[in-house]
Amino acid sequence: MANTKPVTADELAQLNTQFEGADPLEILTWAAERFMPKLAATSSFQTQSVALLHLISRARLAKAGEGETTIPVIFLDTGYHFPETLAYRDQLVEQFGLTLTIAQPAKTPAEVVKQHGDALYRSDPDLCCYINKVEPMQRALAGLEAWITGIRRDQTANRATAQPVELLPDGRVKVNPLVAWTREDLWTYINRHNLPSHPLFSQGYLSVGCAPCTAPVTAGGDERSGRWAGCQKSECGLHTDALTRKRDMD
Ligand code: SF4
Repeated sequence: MANTKPVTADELAQLNTQFEGADPLEILTWAAERFMPKLAATSSFQTQSVALLHLISRARLAKAGEGETTIPVIFLDTGYHFPETLAYRDQLVEQFGLTLTIAQPAKTPAEVVKQHGDALYRSDPDLCCYINKVEPMQRALAGLEAWITGIRRDQTANRATAQPVELLPDGRVKVNPLVAWTREDLWTYINRHNLPSHPLFSQGYLSVGCAPCTAPVTAGGDERSGRWAGCQKSECGLHTDALTRKRDMD
């Protein structure tokens, strides 16, 4: 049985000392033993995600729910993904034997257009991300005690202080097994295991999200500089306090 005792502040400090720079498989194994079956990872299925997905496929579980052989992975289908992302997702699910759950927004793209016009992603990208990403993820994570992500400190200023294990304001635990990896570490792992890249990666799409808000990275730009290019936004809200806030979607 999983240990369902809440993680205390003292335990959190001890875990983060223990896991700083640890093998991500060690962190995943701890999370599975501690939280399964109330545990899932989320993934946007892009090249940056492939290492975590491969590690999840290697973290075979001694203790899991009925029928589960890997930590479940939640994919948020906003309705705005590139078809290449959906094809890459399906390829990795098959290749790695992943347990996939698809989370969807409460409103279809047509309903959002009817209510907010045809370019909410331009007129109010924070509301668009709330409707299509944050609120559906809040529902997908409901009932879970812990959530695994692939974020790394070197990706954005907002992620620079992330820890291997974090306590969210609602008491849920966020587990970031790759947090101490650099981009170089990620590529060392991808190359060592000969993992496939997202089909758009070779065209300069170093980080891939929804099609209307993703552009290729220009020479010298950081890997997320093609996301919401030209506006101040750098996070969709899944890795900020937006995830634990409710807002009006109308
Ligand atoms: S990334 Fe763009 S299209 Fe996708 S939910 Fe956010 S604002 Fe909307």
